[in-house]
Amino acid sequence: MTPASSKSAALFDYASQYLVAGVSGSARLNAALGHPLYLTRGDGCRVYDVDGRAYIDYNLSHGATFLGHNHPQVRKAIEQALDMGVICAYETEYHSRLAERICNVVPCAEQVRFANSGSEATLAAIRLARAVTGKQKILKFEGHFHGLHDYVVWNAHGPVREDLPTYPYVPAQVESAGIPPQISEYVIVIPWNDPAAFEQAMGEHAHELAAIICEPVNYNSGCILPQPGMLELLREQATRYGVLLIFDEVLSGFRMAIGGAQGYYRVTPDLCTLAKAVANGLPLAVVAGRRDLMQVLSPVGQAAHSGTYSGHLFAILAALASLEEIGQPGFYDRIFANADRLYGGLTKLFDSHGVPARVQGLGARFGIYFGVTSEVTNYQDAARIDGGLGDRFIQACFQRGLYFHNYGRLSLGHHGFSAAHTPADIDETLDRIEDAIRTMSRA
Ligand code: PLP
Repeated sequence: MTPASSKSAALFDYASQYLVAGVSGSARLNAALGHPLYLTRGDGCRVYDVDGRAYIDYNLSHGATFLGHNHPQVRKAIEQALDMGVICAYETEYHSRLAERICNVVPCAEQVRFANSGSEATLAAIRLARAVTGKQKILKFEGHFHGLHDYVVWNAHGPVREDLPTYPYVPAQVESAGIPPQISEYVIVIPWNDPAAFEQAMGEHAHELAAIICEPVNYNSGCILPQPGMLELLREQATRYGVLLIFDEVLSGFRMAIGGAQGYYRVTPDLCTLAKAVANGLPLAVVAGRRDLMQVLSPVGQAAHSGTYSGHLFAILAALASLEEIGQPGFYDRIFANADRLYGGLTKLFDSHGVPARVQGLGARFGIYFGVTSEVTNYQDAARIDGGLGDRFIQACFQRGLYFHNYGRLSLGHHGFSAAHTPADIDETLDRIEDAIRTMSRA
């Protein structure tokens, strides 16, 4: 999509000599565009590339920049960390204050540990669950993404299938080379939002399960909401069988309520993981949970957890500033008003121009399922999207200064807006999208 003469194209060539595929992480490549964004800066809801083009951003650092880029209070927090001398691997009073704040707003959190990335946090939570229960396997759901470590890089983006002869089990499918095949013995995969499948799997495997891990809102497949009663069923069965319930709220955390999906749906897991929005773009992740469980972590307990950069002061101060902002009165009223404006506006545009597409969103993140018109309730519904149409949409939007990302596996991934997107930005977005749709229709 980038013109051959642009600075972006030249930078892509240069980057590709030294960085594998020209990127620092494979997900930075936008599969619909065939290249990553090379930016000079971000501000509010906009990012600016090396060619000086501005884009209203609907990816927002894979969801990390919930308050918008260059947020003044987050900036100030980073300046404070700088003034304190770039100290790392020491504790400060701010670590405790942030931990307390998280315990005050996230229902399952009685104690927390900090880490740097979502993947690290899910790894630690699973280890903790094994240490507590003395059991080894985990139950996960098809289409739910929990990072890239060996125990979770299974069945997050699998292929469309017509039937499931092994019902209720989805054959474990690894999504990376280099993972010992024996690890499949520790992972049980079932479809999401299927209470009968879940109850059968629990009946047959609870005796060997350390944890059930899920995205309570499956944003990694766009935005698949838990069907009524599903989260409650997970809670009830986990308690009944002595299996720990982990809500992976790396993406859902803070998105629709300060207490995350667990606060919004009023179902409290034993443990949860948070990252992304918590520090508005700085690398911070959190494992949080019941005090008696958290006490299994080293050095009080036997489950090793530490890290030189865990709870880096830059991120800790940024998170304190972010939570202060998120906790302001009326914050979620504005998020929900903008969500209605954007999702309602998109739906109206697609309907009026005859584009087969379904928009599903909750709070500040959403999915657009091209080629799908009925409700998407599980990964197999989502996987049936028309990826070609989705790519044409992203390309036409890109040409009009709107940034949507295609992660290249489940073709349309997830999108979001930030607290910095104003109603005027959303209206401008809808105008540009209408223009994009007209061009797509003509093509
Ligand atoms: N869990 C969920 C729900 C995620 O969405 C992600 C990343 O997108 C992760 C875990 C992994 O987080 P990270 O990329 O910080 O390792």
